[in-house]
Formats: sequence, structure tokens, C-alpha cells
Amino acid sequence: MTTAARQPIVNDDMHDIITHVNEGHVPELLHCVKAYTPVQDATHVQMTAVYEDGMELEVTAPAGLSRHFVAYAVPGPAHEAIRGTVGEAMKKLGVKPDSRVAHWCLTENRALTAHFRRLTVNLGEDERADWRPGYACRFDVPGHEHGRPYTLRRVSGTTAEVDVYCHDNTLGSQWAEGLQPGETVTARGDYQEVTPDFSAGPALLLGDETALPTIAALLEGWADEHPVRVLLEVGDAADQRYLDDVHLPAGAHVSWLPRTGGSGTALREVLDALETPPAAVWGALEVSAAKALRKHLRTEYPDADVRVTGYWRVNEKN
Ligand SMILES: Cc1cc2nc3c(=O)[nH]c(=O)nc-3n(C[C@H](O)[C@H](O)[C@H](O)COP(=O)(O)OP(=O)(O)OC[C@H]3O[C@@H](n4cnc5c(N)ncnc54)[C@H](O)[C@@H]3O)c2cc1C
Repeated sequence: MTTAARQPIVNDDMHDIITHVNEGHVPELLHCVKAYTPVQDATHVQMTAVYEDGMELEVTAPAGLSRHFVAYAVPGPAHEAIRGTVGEAMKKLGVKPDSRVAHWCLTENRALTAHFRRLTVNLGEDERADWRPGYACRFDVPGHEHGRPYTLRRVSGTTAEVDVYCHDNTLGSQWAEGLQPGETVTARGDYQEVTPDFSAGPALLLGDETALPTIAALLEGWADEHPVRVLLEVGDAADQRYLDDVHLPAGAHVSWLPRTGGSGTALREVLDALETPPAAVWGALEVSAAKALRKHLRTEYPDADVRVTGYWRVNEKN
């Protein structure tokens, strides 16, 4: 069947998947092009549509642009099938998965607010000198094979800070609370947060405690002239001190919202009363709350570029 005869899946989730892949995973998509299409010298690729059984890729090569349907190499929901297909393409090509691992020495571990611990690490001889505030890494934590993702809050020379929201005696919290200066912290991979084009107009940043390090890094590096509105939902007012050492850009307006119900409930309530419609929105909070807010914002502000992402997941089993 050609892609013309197929029906693409069109909904918010697919839009998010396509945006996420195109902005952050072009190298991985290029493996799919090489493994599953006749084009062997592609220089760029973009995903243009997602189907039940495959994806459409627009491939740039010296000979010009071409479109190809790539069938999923593994079954499952689209996001898993795409990830699995990339994995199969890499196996077929003999490409090893990215295994960047950094080992950093913890120099300080201190309580920053009621629930935040600030971990200061020495990046040492780490040959990758391009760490930036706002990058996230997956840190090894005892008791979990995949670790926990946290953001580099600040990077200065060979020193970096990581701020961990500690709550409910979880694995991530135990790890952050128990680390002693001199211990080695292992960070795997890195992920640069995908943000909208904040130069497009008034900006809105929103989230819960876990989004604070990313939002603080964004505010400290703010280069856009448009006003930025910041909505922060926290369970304990004592954590509002988190922004005390952050230099806010001119025109920034921060509101702290006490958590009133489930994650995102308080944020949802104030979104309808925004003074200025945003042109660019970034946020992070619990996965399903993020999905609901994203949908709401896209309905309310159809012209805005909205990126609201899940940073943690409610575990019903706990
Ligand atoms: C790209 C990215 C960057 C991130 N950056 C940061 C950062 O800089 N700092 C930071 O603190 N977090 C950050 N997070 C979120 C962080 O990764 C999660 O909070 C963490 O993985 C949760 O692990 P845990 O061991 O604490 O809890 P889990 O083992 O995941 O969950 C245990 C229990 O705690 C509950 N739970 C988990 N998280 C929360 C929460 N936030 N509030 C209430 N209940 C919760 C779960 O529902 C579950 O019942 C980031 C996440 C991503 C994806």
C-alpha cells in the first residue's frame, strides 16, 4: 500500500511524537533511512506522518528530496514501534547504541529548600566540554536499572549543579539525600530540552517542583525581549525559596500556586485567567497532567507553540 492510500494517525499525541523526533532524533532517523530505504547518502530527514504500521520520512540527499514509507520493524503503539524500529535499524547496520557515560565527583550536597537538595559535581577530565544548563542526564541510582533523569541546573567551568526534588522516600530521593562528597556520580546520555521559539511573542513557563531546575536555567539564560509569565505549582510553600538565587529577566512575572488537588489542578485553574495570550509555552509536570494541560492550552491558544512534557509518572501500585 502506498502512503497515499494509508490514513495517517492525526491527533495531539502523534503531533508531539513527530515534533519530538524531528527536533531531537534526526541521527536515529537517518539510521532508519539507511537500513530501510534505497537512499544511502541522506544528509537530513524529517518524519512527516505516522501510521498504524509505519512512518513516512522526507529524506534530503544530494540527489534531492524524496519521501519513503518505512514499515515498523517491531509491533506496538507508535512511540514504542518507532523506538524499536530505530533499534532494529542500528542492529542491521552494526551501529552501537550511544553509550556516553560520564563519571563526576560530588563536591557538595546541601539542602537548598525544604525538599530540594543541590548536588555540586566536578566534571573533571570529562572530555565533553559542551555541557549546558538545561541538559538532562540519566543518573545511576541504586535499585533501578535505568536510573533517574535530572537536569543540569548550572554549569560553570568544570563545576555543575543538579537540584533534586526529594519526596516520599523514593529511590531518586534516597540517592540524592545519601550522596556524600567524594563519591562518584554516574550520568548517562544527555538530552537537551526542546523548547518553543520564545522570540515569537509573550512566553509562558509552567510546571511543578520537578520543572523548577529547567525553568530556572531558562530564566537565567533568557535572551528574549518579550515578557515571560511563570506559573509554578508546589506542594509546600517553603519550596518557593528555590528561585531566591535566580536572576529573573526584566518583565518576568512569577506566581506560586499551592497544589490543591492532583498534579496540575491549580495550574489548570489559572490558565483560563491569563492576562496575555502566550505565543510560546514550555512546561513540565506529571505525565497525564501534562497531556491534559497541553491539550487545553492548544485549544485555548491555537496560534501558540505549546510544549508541555511529562517529567514523572504517578505509580498507581505505590
Ligand atoms: C528530562 C527530565 C528532566 C528532569 N529534571 C529534574 C530535575 O532537575 N530535578 C528533579 O527533581 N526532577 C527532575 N525530573 C523529574 C525526575 O526525573 C522524577 O521526579 C524522578 O525520576 C522520580 O523518581 P523517584 O525515584 O523520585 O520516584 P519514582 O520511583 O518515579 O516514583 C515513586 C513514587 O513517587 C511518586 N512520585 C514520583 N515523582 C513525584 C513527584 N514529583 N511528586 C509527587 N510524587 C511523585 C510516584 O507516583 C510513585 O508513587 C526530570 C525529568 C525529566 C524527564
